[in-house]
Amino acid sequence: MSFDPGPEIRLHSLYTYRDIDRRFWEEHLEEWVPQELADAHVHIVHPRYQVETLTEEMKRDYWVNELMDMQDVETAEHCYRTLFPGRKVTCLAFGFPGLGWEIEGANLYLSEELPKRGWLSLAVIRPTWVAGQIEWWLRQPGIIGVKPYYTLIGYDRSTRDRYIESSIFDFLPHHQLEVLDHHHAWVTLHVPHADRLGHPGNIREIREIRRRYPSIILVIAHFGRSYTLPHAEEGLLPLADDPGLYFDNSAVLNPEVHRLALEHIGPDRILYGTDNPVFYMRGRRQWSGRTYVNRTSHPFYFNKDRESPDIEATYTLYTYEALRGFKTACQQLGLGSRDVARIFNGNARELFARANRQLKNID
Ligand SMILES: [Zn+2]
Repeated sequence: MSFDPGPEIRLHSLYTYRDIDRRFWEEHLEEWVPQELADAHVHIVHPRYQVETLTEEMKRDYWVNELMDMQDVETAEHCYRTLFPGRKVTCLAFGFPGLGWEIEGANLYLSEELPKRGWLSLAVIRPTWVAGQIEWWLRQPGIIGVKPYYTLIGYDRSTRDRYIESSIFDFLPHHQLEVLDHHHAWVTLHVPHADRLGHPGNIREIREIRRRYPSIILVIAHFGRSYTLPHAEEGLLPLADDPGLYFDNSAVLNPEVHRLALEHIGPDRILYGTDNPVFYMRGRRQWSGRTYVNRTSHPFYFNKDRESPDIEATYTLYTYEALRGFKTACQQLGLGSRDVARIFNGNARELFARANRQLKNID
C-alpha cells in the first residue's frame, strides 16, 4: 500500500505532525477535548543543560536513552499549539530528573521562562539537599513544588533503574518532606519498585507521607506507573479512599486503567498530563496481563518487533492515543463534560492556586 503522510510539521527531535494526526484530532478529539487545558506533567529543559553525551552505544544499550531529547520552552509552546489547535493551554513543567543534566541550571531556566507565559514549574531536587536548599527553590518565581526521583540518588551511565528498589524516603527524605509540608508545596511522585504502585513499601510509605505531611499536595505520576489493569488494581484500589491524594494520568494509554481510576478515584482527584516530549512518539501500545509493548514506526534500536507497513501507516501520536484511551473510559462510564473539564483543567488550576497562595507567604 502506498501511503501519503501529507504535509508534515516538525514537532520536536525526530517527531512530526502529519495529516493522519489532523484527521485523528478532528474525528476523535476536536468535539470532546475542552477549550482550556492544564498539562500537569510535562518535561521542559533547554538542551544546553545536558552535561552527559549520549553515545550510540548507550542508546543501543538502554532504550530510554533514545527518547531523551528534551524540548525547550519555545518548542513546548509550538507543540501545544499544533497538537491542541485553538485550545488555551497552561502547564506544570519540570526538567528531566537525571544526573546527566545540570539540575540547578535547568530549574532556573524554567523559573525564568515559564512565568512569562503564566506557566508553573517544579524544581528537580537531589536527596542530599538540606531543607534550606529546598526552601530556596520554593521562593523562586513560578516554582510551586518539587520533582524528586530515584535516579537522583546516584549517577549510573548504563541504566535509569539502579535505584528502582529504593524506599521513597531514600530520594525524598523526611527533612525535605517537613519543609514541603510547612509551605504546602506540590510534589509529583514517580513511585519506585519494579512492582509499581502496588508494592507494599509504596502503599505503606505513601500513607505515611499523607499522615505525617498532610499539607503537601501529593500527586502520584502516571497513576503510579499503572499501565496495565492488574497493576492498576494492585496499586490504585488500596489508595483510592484517601480524599487528599491526587494522581496524574500521563503516559497511560490503556482505557481499562483510565476506567478503573475514574470509577474508584473519581474525577475530582485526577489531573491530565502528557509526559511529553516522550509521547510525541508515533505508534500504539498493546497490553497482555502485566506487560505491555510500545509499537512505533521509527527505526529506534529498541524497535525490533515491528508491525506491518500497512498498520504502521495508521499510527498517530501517543499523546492522541492516550487521549483516545481516556475518552473511551469516560464514555463507557457516561462521564459528563463538567467532570471531563475538571480532569483536563479545573482540578489542576485549583491546586495551582492553592500552592501559589501558600508560597507567596514565604518570608
Ligand atoms: Zn515524566
